Amino acid sequence: MVDVAVVGSGPNGLAAAVVMARAGLDVHVYEAGATIGGGTRTSELIEPGHFHDVCSAVHPMAVASPFFKDFELAKRVELVVPEVQHGTPLDSGGAAVAYQSLERTALELGNDGAAYRRLLEPLLNRVDGIVDFTSYQLLRVPRDPLAAVQLGLATLDQGSPLWNRRFREDAAPALLTGVMAHAVSALPALTATGAGLMLAVLAHAGGWVIPTGGSASIAQAMADDVVAHGGTIHTGQAVESLDQVRPAQAILLDVAAPALLRLGGSEVPDRYRRALEAFRFGNAACKVDFILSAPVPWRDAALAKAGTVHVGGSRTAMAESENLVAMGKHPGEPYVLASQPSLFDSSRAPRGKHILWTYCHVPKGSTVDMGEAVISRIERYAPGFRDVVVASKTTTAVELADYNRNYVGGDFSAGQMDLLGLLRRPVVSPVPWRTPLPGVYLCSSSTSPGPGVTGMPGYNAAKYALKDIFNKRVPGLGLVS
Ligand SMILES: Cc1cc2nc3c(=O)[nH]c(=O)nc-3n(C[C@H](O)[C@H](O)[C@H](O)COP(=O)(O)OP(=O)(O)OC[C@H]3O[C@@H](n4cnc5c(N)ncnc54)[C@H](O)[C@@H]3O)c2cc1C
Repeated sequence: MVDVAVVGSGPNGLAAAVVMARAGLDVHVYEAGATIGGGTRTSELIEPGHFHDVCSAVHPMAVASPFFKDFELAKRVELVVPEVQHGTPLDSGGAAVAYQSLERTALELGNDGAAYRRLLEPLLNRVDGIVDFTSYQLLRVPRDPLAAVQLGLATLDQGSPLWNRRFREDAAPALLTGVMAHAVSALPALTATGAGLMLAVLAHAGGWVIPTGGSASIAQAMADDVVAHGGTIHTGQAVESLDQVRPAQAILLDVAAPALLRLGGSEVPDRYRRALEAFRFGNAACKVDFILSAPVPWRDAALAKAGTVHVGGSRTAMAESENLVAMGKHPGEPYVLASQPSLFDSSRAPRGKHILWTYCHVPKGSTVDMGEAVISRIERYAPGFRDVVVASKTTTAVELADYNRNYVGGDFSAGQMDLLGLLRRPVVSPVPWRTPLPGVYLCSSSTSPGPGVTGMPGYNAAKYALKDIFNKRVPGLGLVS
């Protein structure tokens, strides 16, 4: 009899599988795709020898999340900390950049440096408390209440229409908005700001790291650990009904929450069924990957040292672009997220060549190819960019949804990222990972604490499954445990 079935091998499914296998249970992971990894796959998308991250590329949580800390990811995968964590080119021709050092960042931000520092320094001083507050579920007494209060105050400061009150120039607000806009939300907004401030602080803590070999190295490290502890991973095996993986005593589902309606059929009680039917998905991404004959010719040389570049102009311009998406429209001048992994990892492209990872936000279900809009946006801040593009490949929002069934309509957060969407992840409950179906747990980013490569939804779900079903304690996850 199989002890545990994990459906889906995204970072959360694999995190759950690591915990259960380490607890001495017989674990089987079932993945619909031909390879493991979900949103942490790296692949030769365009031409052989060029390794693109298909979804996630940059990993602020790889060194910060409680799961990855316990798992000692940093000892298993080489995690490169770029000199510049993230940067934003400005219309003036310069750029605002965030170094790991808050002091150096504030110094280069000129007149607004002190205001930027006053905003982030209290959060940086309590960064562990902030990560703890955001790693489980919101309705929980925080371990460091002062950290939660400080994040709340900073969120109110930057998440309201008065967000420019403390700033006098463009650079600092643009730098912050580049990060807040990650959440695919109208701006300013509290949820996007809270999530953005945490990411902004992590840039000054462990950094926004880039794994050598791409995001797939993270998935592989977890999969290796599962197998080393007796687990089995089956790829190319879509699970369409819970009966398919029974008689496993515990079933952990790394699936978008409403998928349980199909998997569980008539077993799903009416009240929970209605909650899952009401689950809302957010807007989406259109991804554009590039092969380049040279690095991006940024006008401001500091951006050539950045792991991540937020291309969107001023705070106002980025907010306008995001607000159009929130209204269901495609921005003509989109806010673009770009990552330049081959600047830091020579294994990603043949000598002399580079890859560039970009995406922009689009309305859910979009079929629009934003490739030309992305190129024009980058060209504006990197004249000559067009000339170094050797090849590109667009993945539209609907293609993203086809690629990974968790990204419904292209929503890679697997659920709307507003306040309600964070509280109901997927339902309001002290244990949101537990479902009313005996032995069945949800462990994807549709559950708390939400999206990003954190392993935390999987870790949280596995902890409860261990306790509820097997009466076991959480095992050590480190290399010598
Ligand atoms: C373009 C893009 C860029 C991103 N950039 C970043 C980034 O830079 N940093 C970051 O931290 N995050 C990023 N993310 C988000 C991150 O990838 C996700 O939040 C994360 O992968 C979610 O992990 P998960 O395990 O919950 O689900 P997923 O990674 O989505 O994995 C779910 C897996 O389950 C499988 N599955 C689903 N249903 C079934 C079934 N019925 N049977 C069998 N298998 C099934 C799927 O095939 C998939 O492999 C990005 C996402 C996208 C799309």
